[in-house]
Amino acid sequence: ARQAALASWTGPGGTADGHPVPLLANVGGPAELDAAVAAGAEGIGLYRTEFLYLDRPGPPSAEEQERAYRAALEAFPGGKVVVRTLDGGADKPLAFLPAAAEPNPALGERGLRRFARHPEVMDVQLGALAAAGAVSVMAPMVATAEEAAWFAGECRDKGLTDVGVMIEVPSAALRAADLLARVDFVSIGTNDLSQYAFAADRQLGAVSGMHDPWQPALLDLIATTAYAAARADKPCGVCGEAAADPALACVLVGLGVSSLSMAPSALAAVRAGLAAHTLEQCEAAADAARARSSAAEAREEARAHLPGLG
Ligand code: PEP
Ligand code: MG
Repeated sequence: ARQAALASWTGPGGTADGHPVPLLANVGGPAELDAAVAAGAEGIGLYRTEFLYLDRPGPPSAEEQERAYRAALEAFPGGKVVVRTLDGGADKPLAFLPAAAEPNPALGERGLRRFARHPEVMDVQLGALAAAGAVSVMAPMVATAEEAAWFAGECRDKGLTDVGVMIEVPSAALRAADLLARVDFVSIGTNDLSQYAFAADRQLGAVSGMHDPWQPALLDLIATTAYAAARADKPCGVCGEAAADPALACVLVGLGVSSLSMAPSALAAVRAGLAAHTLEQCEAAADAARARSSAAEAREEARAHLPGLG
């Protein structure tokens, strides 16, 4: 009965002993806003803006973008809304943002690199975000502190005040403290972080077996990032698929991650899983997982420390 009651609870996320963990939604377009609200999301941790740019010969106008960003803010009055700037290239090709021929598009001019190559597109998006009001803004595919500083400067020039970067590249995770010195928050994208940590194309079925978010090496990169964020006293979210697994969500909180963002359909189970464990249990599960040397062992070991998952 307790599990059932927890599963239908849509209040704020947190551990059994009251450590708050905001549970946010990943949203890929306006149609998903209702599902995020219905699932009890406390805000949006990743608003993917590519939908505005797909299947059209040119970028959307400032007005069209501003309307979309305002709709996201209106869906979560008082909640956090984190909008990611355009993440073009590699697995997200955009017809009107051509790059030179790239033998390895995932290692090419994608994400912030592609955005920076088209200042006119960036200018309009950052302007529309600023005009929409109190959004938080973050850049994808940041590899260095210089890139983080440059992006933060561009955002602040437009009047945006809460600026972050995604941690999706191992170099960014390893030097998270340097990036955090330049921005207000970080958000770990475990899908790409796994792709780059294991040198395994996320779109290639033949290497999909490498993409297990329980991989101890991935947990280490997350731990390094979360530790740097705690030292800097700045938020560190996770917005990749890893956050949607209730046991792994507990482990992420145990590693020091401060908020979790996921598909709305995953929120109820993650909320219930967290509410059934104390922060101390989450930390013990995280330590136990990192002490093992394979994904399967890490998962098994963590679950043994999380009895509330049944
Ligand atoms: C990620 O890479 O983990 C992420 C959240 O971004 P996307 O899946 O949109 O690349
Ligand atoms: Mg990504």
